[in-house]
Parts: sequence; C-alpha cells; structure tokens
Amino acid sequence: MNLVTGGAGYIGSHFIKAFLDVFQDDNIIAVDNLTEGHASALSFSNRIHFEQEDIGNTEAMVRIFRKYDIKTIIHFAASCYVGDSQINPAKYFHNNCIQTLNMFKAMEICGIRQILFSSTCATYGNPQYLPLNEVHPQQPINVYGSTKLMTEQALRAYSIAQGWSYVALRYFNASGADESGIIGESHDPETHLIPLILKTALGKRKALQIFGNDYETPDGTCIRDYIHVNDLASAHIAALSYLRNHPRGESFNLGTTNGSSVLEVINMCKKVTGLDIPVEYVPKRPGDPPVLVANADKARELLGWKTSYDMQSIVQTAWHWEQNRRY
Ligand code: UDP
Repeated sequence: MNLVTGGAGYIGSHFIKAFLDVFQDDNIIAVDNLTEGHASALSFSNRIHFEQEDIGNTEAMVRIFRKYDIKTIIHFAASCYVGDSQINPAKYFHNNCIQTLNMFKAMEICGIRQILFSSTCATYGNPQYLPLNEVHPQQPINVYGSTKLMTEQALRAYSIAQGWSYVALRYFNASGADESGIIGESHDPETHLIPLILKTALGKRKALQIFGNDYETPDGTCIRDYIHVNDLASAHIAALSYLRNHPRGESFNLGTTNGSSVLEVINMCKKVTGLDIPVEYVPKRPGDPPVLVANADKARELLGWKTSYDMQSIVQTAWHWEQNRRY
C-alpha cells in the first residue's frame, strides 16, 4: 500500500486524484495534520483513507504504517514558502528536517525502504548556467531550499547505509489546478504569484506587488519555470514505477524549460481573464534568484514523462478554480 504525507495539500491532493484515476482498483492512505492542508481536498473519493496526524510523531506513524501495511511513502508534507522561510527559519528546519527525520525513524522501525520525495529547484541557489540540470551544484540561497537539500542528503545517507530506494523530484514552480474544479491551490496566507495575480483580477487585492524590476533579465523581473500541478502528479506516477525497478537513489528536475517573467505571467493572466490587473513595484524579496529554468531531459528519458500543459492552460485552470473555489 502507498502512503502520501501532506495528502490534503495542493500537490499531494492532485497526486492522489491522478493516482486513483490511473489505478482504479487501488486505495491510498493520506496523512496530514491539516495545519496547512484542507480536509475537503480529500473528499472526492472513498478510496482515500485519511489519518490526521503529524508526520513527526514517530509512534503514531509506526502505528499507521503497520495498520495499512505500507510499502512506499510519497512525501509531500512540508512548509513551502521561500519568503516565510527567511523570516521563520526555525519553523522550516523543524517541519521540513526534524519532522521528516522522525518519520524516517518510523520507516526504519517498520522496514519501509521506498520513498518519493518532494524536493525543489530552490536547492540549486543562483544558477551557474541555464537551464539547470540535476548535476548543477546545490548551493541554496534561502532557508526553504536548505531544508530540502538537507533532506535529500539524509535520503542519500539512508540509501547507502540501509539500502533505501528514493527518488527526489525537484519541482520548479507548481501552478494551475485540476480541470474538474474539485481541487486546487489554497494557501493561507497565499504568497504564490499566479493565485495572487488572479485575486487581484477579481478585486480581492488592490494591486499585485512585483518584487524587483532590476534583475538581469530582459524585462527586469524574475523568470521562473511554471509547471502544471497535474504534470507534477503524472511525474510522480512514473517515478513510482521507476522506484520499484531501480533500488537506489535518483533525482529528477520537473519543469517545462520555458521560463516566464513576472510581467509575462501578468500579461497571460490579463489575456485569460480579460480583466485589468493593477501592479506596484516593491523591493526584491530576499532569497529570490533572478532566473530558475529546468532542464528536464533526465525525467523525460528515464521516466518516460512529458508535460501536457502550457502557460495558457495553467492560467486557465487556475482561473477556473479561483472563481469557484471549494476551500
Ligand atoms: N512574485 C512577485 N510578487 C508576488 C509573489 C511572487 O513578484 O506577490 C515573484 C517572486 O519574486 C518570484 C515569482 O514571482 O520571482 C514566483 O514566486 P512564487 O512565490 O510564486 O514562487 P517561488 O519561486 O518563490 O517558489
């Protein structure tokens, strides 16, 4: 049986939906403490068995692992805001490193040795070349990236010492929503670019703040590689079978290789919504590299994965969700 941590979160819930769509006879276990996740994000199927628990509670996790005879973990649970991580480092080291190590202890106790891990392009830091491939040096410039890198290093150590198989998936910018409209992105507070732009379009915010306009990029704003959350979900499904056939550790970038600047994303949102989006320029956000764009050839070659959504469909699905949010 597969167990998803952070299953009630944005990417976790989209993975669960994609998994249950592909594997019609399977069930899945979702663990979430609901501090950031939403119980409603798991209400779409009775094949989801939900356990409200902290992943850092080793004893409770041992009980859950045994109850469902868990063989593989898909580990999404984390705190995930770059800006917040710079202000509250202790929260990030605690939630992303210590709690994860507590769960690893439970895995050790139960003999679970397969894990898919949500890592991030923030582990690379300032690019020395672009697009970034997996062998690019990992020198994070924000706390969030550091905590994810430390977890990758822990997984490498477990793989060597105890023969764990792991796949670390380094996401670029997760975005968009499932077309069904039953699940989508909902953070509180929201800090991610696309939902903030769309809230501004709806008049829920006065103006979109653009963090810096003198980066070394063609229009002076940061460039990111936005990837649809369902493309991330399908990569996890491909990585699950890879994990079972390759008993060691591997890392894959998940991105599109098409970077968009903040201004380009705003223009796409104007086009899709047909609405005006007021902006104001504010100082740079600490910890933001100017450009992050993926070379995802390795995932395409070894996982047989490809993306299906472009920037326009990312914004269209996010817009559909934003106007009809269920949570
Ligand atoms: N950004 C911005 N204004 C906002 C939120 C984000 O200009 O209100 C920029 C941010 O500096 C970054 C990009 O948009 O270059 C994407 O930021 P987000 O927080 O969505 O994702 P991150 O890249 O931090 O994971």
